[in-house]
Amino acid sequence: MQPNEITEFAGTRSRLGGLRVRLTVSYVLFFALVLIVVGLLFRRSLQFNLHQQSVAVLNEEWGAIRGYLRFNADGTHHWSYHADDPEEAYVVERLRRVFLLTDLEGNVLEMSNGYRLLDGPRMSEIREADSVRDAILRTKRHGDRSFLIRQGTFRDQGRTYFLALGLSMLDSERALASFTGTYFLMVPVLLIGVAGLGWLAAGRALRPLNELVTATQRISGPNLTVRLALTGHGDELDTLISRFNEMLERLERSFVQMRQFTINASHELRTPITAIRGQLEVALFTARSPEEYQEAISTALHDVERMGQIVKSLLLLSQVESGQVALEKGTVDLAPIVEAVANHFHLAAEEKGITLTHVVTPNTLARVDRAQCERMVSNLVSNAVKFTPSGGEVRVTLTRDTGHVYLTVSDTGQGIPAEHLPHIFDRFYRVVHSEREPERGLGLGLSFVDWIVKAHDGTIEVKSEEGRGATFLVTLPSGSPTVPFAVFQPAAPACESDAPQVAPPDLS
Ligand code: ADP
Repeated sequence: MQPNEITEFAGTRSRLGGLRVRLTVSYVLFFALVLIVVGLLFRRSLQFNLHQQSVAVLNEEWGAIRGYLRFNADGTHHWSYHADDPEEAYVVERLRRVFLLTDLEGNVLEMSNGYRLLDGPRMSEIREADSVRDAILRTKRHGDRSFLIRQGTFRDQGRTYFLALGLSMLDSERALASFTGTYFLMVPVLLIGVAGLGWLAAGRALRPLNELVTATQRISGPNLTVRLALTGHGDELDTLISRFNEMLERLERSFVQMRQFTINASHELRTPITAIRGQLEVALFTARSPEEYQEAISTALHDVERMGQIVKSLLLLSQVESGQVALEKGTVDLAPIVEAVANHFHLAAEEKGITLTHVVTPNTLARVDRAQCERMVSNLVSNAVKFTPSGGEVRVTLTRDTGHVYLTVSDTGQGIPAEHLPHIFDRFYRVVHSEREPERGLGLGLSFVDWIVKAHDGTIEVKSEEGRGATFLVTLPSGSPTVPFAVFQPAAPACESDAPQVAPPDLS
């Protein structure tokens, strides 16, 4: 493992560790928020209930006071209860603890010490109580103690009186403080528990991811066969692993292709280099006459040309791959192009003992890039000649109908085995027919053909059986569709009869 790989691995580990901490902190923060909100809601509800309870007690005591308090006609009052009943005496005593009784002018009829400490009588409060129908509730404080006061007026013996009755809130406040203290003391303890659980849960959730990280460390250029096992949960992680495996598959295919290409390219270049070297050595050590030198140089030149072709193919491939090849499309008659290519290969075919025939329909117009079309036809015919043994036949036809032009190149050669047919248009794909193949290629010719056909919105089909030849059919949209073909046809009536229009070739 390279040092930078180690650093990267450690970095990934610590990143996942950081993720675990972040997840745990998120859990803790979330629970802290929930606990605080729930605590505050409970406290609020408790406070409300305690207040309601105090109000109910005050209302009850108000009623009880009205039962014990008696007024005389002269406006004086007295408490009516059985003084010898300790329970009753205690109740009246309790009722009078925080107590104020006045007339409407504010003259105090009775005031407990408790009430005096709080506030004493206030005319504003008496007037306010007299002006409303319902009792008024106020909170008054003395030191750190607070009291709930119920104030109101009532009529007795033709006079109106003001009565204020107080209740200490100490018990309620203590209950509230005790709840708040206990609850918020528990929160940190609960949060420590949540942090522990969160840490474990985050570790469990991140375990497959950690395994993924470990597995990716095993992947390298020469070892792309590694595949990661799915967790089986069908979740996002499984999707990630599937995509990752697919990516590995694509990478592996590219690596195999590149490796194959390097082998092919070096082999292709090595063969002519070895030949040139041999020829030049022979010339240097054995040639005597100018003719012998000439022959050696011309054979070397032939091989140099072959090397030039290979380098050109590689250059074209890189240009195609980087999208640098711009097509110069124009309305072109394909007939002379096909004828020229067929004628070009005539000699080579003849030398191999192959019959090469061509039938072309004149004025077969298409909107194409002339140079690329020449390359396409040339690659197909070259392959047909290359893969057809002596005594075989190669036939090239060019036909058209109103919307399309059809180019077929068929041969009676060795054919292509069915299992290779889906791949022959792939880059660097070659079918190894036999170990002693006289002609080898880089496996680029058909991929260029495919690219050219597609760049012209056409299609290419192939039909072949091993040992029974191959037929390639290229279909391209015809050129100048707005101009009827009849306009062009009179220009070469004689040829037309030689090469009549035919129906589109059927490869099925
Ligand atoms: P190459 O440079 O090897 O010819 P191509 O891309 O042109 O590369 O062709 C790919 C493979 O398809 C060839 O290796 C050959 O095995 C097969 N092939 C192409 N044309 C023919 C044909 N007419 N007959 C038989 N096999 C063919």
